[in-house]
Amino acid sequence: MQNLTQGGAVTDRLKRPLRDLRISVTDRCNFRCPYCMPAEIFGDHYQFLPKQQILSYEEIARLTHIIIRLGAVKLRLTGGEPLVRQDLDLLVRQLAQLDGAHDLAMTTNGVRLPGRAQPLKEAGLQRVTVSLDSLDNDVFRQMNGNRANVEDVMAGIDAAIQAGLTPIKLNTVVKRGVNDNTLVDLAKWAKDQGYILRFIEYMDVGNRNGWRMEHVVPAREIAAIIDKALPLEPLPRNYNSETALRFAYRDGGGEIGIIASVTMPFCGDCSRMRLSPDGHIYTCLFATQGTDLMTPLRAGASDEEIETIIRDTWLNRSDRYSEVRSSIKRPNEKIEMYYIGG
Ligand code: SF4
Repeated sequence: MQNLTQGGAVTDRLKRPLRDLRISVTDRCNFRCPYCMPAEIFGDHYQFLPKQQILSYEEIARLTHIIIRLGAVKLRLTGGEPLVRQDLDLLVRQLAQLDGAHDLAMTTNGVRLPGRAQPLKEAGLQRVTVSLDSLDNDVFRQMNGNRANVEDVMAGIDAAIQAGLTPIKLNTVVKRGVNDNTLVDLAKWAKDQGYILRFIEYMDVGNRNGWRMEHVVPAREIAAIIDKALPLEPLPRNYNSETALRFAYRDGGGEIGIIASVTMPFCGDCSRMRLSPDGHIYTCLFATQGTDLMTPLRAGASDEEIETIIRDTWLNRSDRYSEVRSSIKRPNEKIEMYYIGG
């Protein structure tokens, strides 16, 4: 069989090794960011996955162990909002004990970190990425569905720092006409705090955020906006599959990143698999279908049988949506981002 291993990792049809596993532990969130989970659609009566259709922490750990055997070394907990799930430190403890993974991080909106950061750290979580789309509270509320204030996220970041979940990375989705005029303030503040800020081009994830190209602020323009106030110089990627373009501040005051999935796609090195809360694996953020692992798992399949399903899924992978986005005439229904994590 070809494409079997590269440095121990299974590789796909484009010779990309499986390296990163993003684990979505819930499809629920306490925010309603319009670019991901618009409140007018995901209202109080929206039917999220029922409890019995959600993987238990033991099931997540078992599947993760198998996926590590196939090459995954970086694990990231996502959602929805992962801290909506109770006792997440119990899962972190199980994942931290798995041999083979050297990075265990979490992406969160931060507001539930106070009181949870320390137990997560003690359980083995290494660091967090916090979503913060603006320091302007009105703009921030507009971008989270009026669910929280900037000070709530600040309290979460403080709790993460006190617990030692560092370095702190911040993710900021940039939407034209919404927060693009507040980027410099955010960059100045993050620079002063020593946080690594990453701007994210607004993406056509899922099917419900009303995405249009004219709402995208291209990476080049974001870099120009920051460079005008805080001179930048390009930096090389830390590793091949790193998603962000890196820039250092010329005054030595740190760096920023820009994730340019729309205007400068990086599918060529994409090494990410995603596990959904109901036990399906996806090989692209813009996938239209996944592979069900929960059914065989709960039907008593062995680790070897499940490993074969996962390996075959990756071996047959040829996703590169962002590279072909503009040539796709009638896109099929894509999986929603809140379900498989950004
Ligand atoms: S579009 Fe899909 S294949 Fe390309 S980088 Fe994103 S997740 Fe990977």
